[in-house]
Amino acid sequence: MAQIAFIGLGNMGSGMAANLIKAGQDVRAFDLNAEAVAQLVSKGARAADSVAQAAQGADAVVTMLPAGPHVHSVYDGPDGVLAHAPAGAVLMDCSTIDVDSARKAAALAKDKGFAFVDAPVSGGVAAAEAGTLTFMVGGPSDAFAKAEPYLDMMGKAVIRAGEAGAGQAAKICNNMLLAIHMIGTCEAINMAQRLGLETQDFFNIASKASGQCWSLTSYCPAPGPVPAAPSNRGYKPGFAAPMMLKDLKLAMEAARTAGASTPLGAHAAEIYQRFVDSDGEGLDFSAVIQMIAADSEAGKA
Ligand code: NAD
Repeated sequence: MAQIAFIGLGNMGSGMAANLIKAGQDVRAFDLNAEAVAQLVSKGARAADSVAQAAQGADAVVTMLPAGPHVHSVYDGPDGVLAHAPAGAVLMDCSTIDVDSARKAAALAKDKGFAFVDAPVSGGVAAAEAGTLTFMVGGPSDAFAKAEPYLDMMGKAVIRAGEAGAGQAAKICNNMLLAIHMIGTCEAINMAQRLGLETQDFFNIASKASGQCWSLTSYCPAPGPVPAAPSNRGYKPGFAAPMMLKDLKLAMEAARTAGASTPLGAHAAEIYQRFVDSDGEGLDFSAVIQMIAADSEAGKA
């Protein structure tokens, strides 16, 4: 049994940490939210009062935090993971953060002799709970080898993308593509409906034709065809629209740095910004179909 510090027990982290407990690991849990810690303790974790206390004596440290500044506030400084984890511990940051922050964390960890990987995930809250996440991992191959057994306990696929930051790069490229095909799926369904097609008929055809994509067949944004999709429960997230907007902003920042042309990614970011600023803040990202339908009603192109 390994001792694992788990820091960040929100929507995703709580399910992931619970799977480490189910796999028989000794989890020491910390979050700024004491209620989140208490809930995990009821599932078999031990509570830590601070990042430092969680990290002390840990064989592995997992962080699942909102964004780059949170990760650095947990890793850096006299009270952070890097100051308190024992030599030989493997450090895994599973948050989705900007590539530069991930590379900076990797460099600081390397200076102190730690094995560190960035290991963001694909799959939402349901996959975190079911232990079926996909991990996209950046870091040296020896760090990957140390991290893989722990990530396996929380996921269905653990894939090395390359050196430090490569996991984050893969994640934001994937999510930019997801945003683009979700918006495309919403436009196509809305147009099919306005042309008089039944949603289910269009779904049956497009899911067997060249328009087939994950947004349609696994996450259909219109209620009906895919029972497990958020569209069938009032668009309760799921993957919240502001999270998608965050990822698109990271993607646009990375595109600028890399000199990559992303006209559809930029347009998707504008569409999600407008959606979040209007009614979308508390909704799943697939609810953007409602804005597209409202624009159609209002006669907007
Ligand atoms: P969340 O806001 O629900 O959870 C984040 C947790 O971190 C909160 O409980 C918060 O209290 C805690 N936290 C923040 N700062 C802290 C600190 N300094 N010390 C200790 N705890 C601290 O977010 P989430 O939905 O769990 O997402 C976490 C990460 O996973 C994000 O980077 C997100 O982009 C990514 N992600 C989310 C989803 C999803 O569907 N929700 C899917 C894939 C990836």
